[in-house]
Amino acid sequence: MSESDLEGRLREKSLRVTAPRLAVLAAVQEHPHSDTDALARVVRSRLGSVSHQTVYDVLRILTEVGLVRRIQPAAATARYETRVSDNHHHLVCRSCKTIVDVDCAVGSSPCLSARDDHGFEVDEAEVVYWGTCPDCLTTSSASEPPREGTR
Ligand SMILES: [Zn+2]
Ligand SMILES: [Zn+2]
Repeated sequence: MSESDLEGRLREKSLRVTAPRLAVLAAVQEHPHSDTDALARVVRSRLGSVSHQTVYDVLRILTEVGLVRRIQPAAATARYETRVSDNHHHLVCRSCKTIVDVDCAVGSSPCLSARDDHGFEVDEAEVVYWGTCPDCLTTSSASEPPREGTR
């Protein structure tokens, strides 16, 4: 994704193109599912000193206009990604909080037609699969004491 593509995306949403906005959008694009701290580090490595508040404000604006999707699995910090509007799901590791994208099992807008919407106009359905990632599975089985009778 080139700088001019990112500029175009900001312009499409009638946002003024600024260096922090470009850098934050690029950071989210390159590091999906990162939290604000991690994104701030990436932005700083590119622009030098940028305040946490600036990064936070830019993320809020980008989320509001729909360029960035904010996800916040229970007990984890808010994460951001540029993969928007396909309503994909996430696998979250309980140990290390790694987040992985998973496509919807049945279509592009899973479960958007609630059986009974109680008059709500539904625009998003959230499915989070919780579990243990392969890395954490390997680590935990390696650190388990050898069981009696297995050798
Ligand atoms: Zn893990
Ligand atoms: Zn995602």
